[in-house]
Amino acid sequence: MKKRTFLKLSSAILTTAAIAPLQSCESTPRRRNWAGNITYLSDNLYEPATVEELRDIIVNNNRIKAQGTSHSFNGIDNSTFNFVRLLRMNQVVSLDETNMTVTVQAGMRYGELCKYLEAKGYALHNLASLPHISVGGSIATATHGSGDRNGNLSSVVRGMKIMNAAGEVIDASSNLSSTIVHLGALGVVTEVTLAIQPSFQVRQHVYQYLPMSVLKEHFDEIFSSGYSVSLFFDWASENINQVWVKKRVTADDPGDAPVDLFGAKAASKDLHPIETISAVNCTPQMGVSGPWHERLPHFKLDFTPSAGEELQAEYFVPRANAYDAIAAVYALREQVNPLIQISEVRSIAADDLLMSPCRNQDSIAIHFTWKKDWDGVSKVLPLIERALDKYNVRPHWGKLFTLDPKVLQERYRGLGDFKKLINRFDPEGKFRNEFLERNLG
Ligand SMILES: Cc1cc2nc3c(=O)[nH]c(=O)nc-3n(C[C@H](O)[C@H](O)[C@H](O)COP(=O)(O)OP(=O)(O)OC[C@H]3O[C@@H](n4cnc5c(N)ncnc54)[C@H](O)[C@@H]3O)c2cc1C
Repeated sequence: MKKRTFLKLSSAILTTAAIAPLQSCESTPRRRNWAGNITYLSDNLYEPATVEELRDIIVNNNRIKAQGTSHSFNGIDNSTFNFVRLLRMNQVVSLDETNMTVTVQAGMRYGELCKYLEAKGYALHNLASLPHISVGGSIATATHGSGDRNGNLSSVVRGMKIMNAAGEVIDASSNLSSTIVHLGALGVVTEVTLAIQPSFQVRQHVYQYLPMSVLKEHFDEIFSSGYSVSLFFDWASENINQVWVKKRVTADDPGDAPVDLFGAKAASKDLHPIETISAVNCTPQMGVSGPWHERLPHFKLDFTPSAGEELQAEYFVPRANAYDAIAAVYALREQVNPLIQISEVRSIAADDLLMSPCRNQDSIAIHFTWKKDWDGVSKVLPLIERALDKYNVRPHWGKLFTLDPKVLQERYRGLGDFKKLINRFDPEGKFRNEFLERNLG
């Protein structure tokens, strides 16, 4: 078992300073999340390679927090005590071609899984915008891609094993809808079984400058024009900058692109969502077909984004309110635009998962990639949350938000049941942290 101990910190109560701007480094730099906006408040990190090693760690520590690849932005994976990371438990456990499932260790990254599945002739239904995130950490926060008929990545989980606070591996398969979006609160997920399907080809086209007025008229047609559709914009003008349409290639698919999409013009070359940036790291566009995992993410699998010079927030609203919600944020463009790098709107199909932001409702997610300016962003988020309040907005569990915990709790009707589960899996609060205590109450 490998235990890394760096600077030992005191076990002080964690405060919301966890999402404060960067602090100056001490002689031994502390670990941070991908974006660098969260400083981890303990340097005790365990990296087990087996379930037995994991059990020893769980049993011998009173407080511990599981981490995936640290791509969350809000301290959901922070702790003042100890961390356990499963990046050495990252193998495929089994491929079941009869039931069309693959079982993986929770530390596996989607990028590695995609390569494995494609080599066997299989695919996942959808992917997030980047492949570097772990399966266990992604399903914890209901990470999603886009597509009217595509649920989030958690929605295709068909089995899960979790190690509880007593070090017992619980097969959660009989209670999946309550446990999949686990927020890191139930224990350490060791294995996840995912639905697969035969590999498929996708081609994508990008359209530029879609007027907001046209979006209002044709919202549903635009979002149903592909298997996965994304809008990119910076709130600077009355146009959506880009519409990315990803279509599954079918036998009767002519393969050519319409020259426009409700007035938005087909791009004449590959584009980055931020047009001033080179498209060299973006997945091929212009209708060139390719395997699912090389088209569904916007960025190439072998492109490793450097530590992010960005902050992210994302809000879910019911699909029925999609245009009105976008218009409500648009009314704040003078505050939003100076801080924004790019926004993306995606659609996600309803699911039945207890803590999913898309539970029982087809949803639209309005995403913000902000400049790394927490002072500014922390002032704009409450304005956006207020503007979206009438649509019962729910924030992404892994991104920044300032919503009052009482309001957040009201938005999750299943929270009472989820808390009962937490008490069953973790009666002494071994896996709790400040994020969970503050937001779940
Ligand atoms: C550049 C970038 C792009 C992104 N794009 C998208 C996107 O397209 N769509 C989207 O929805 N989100 C997106 N995100 C957000 C990201 O996908 C989520 O925050 C996701 O949860 C991160 O997974 P992770 O493996 O890094 O987990 P972490 O951030 O390390 O942890 C997330 C949660 O999972 C828990 N956890 C992790 N592993 C385990 C385990 N084995 N057992 C128990 N609990 C565990 C942690 O305790 C924590 O609660 C993006 C983030 C970045 C930085």
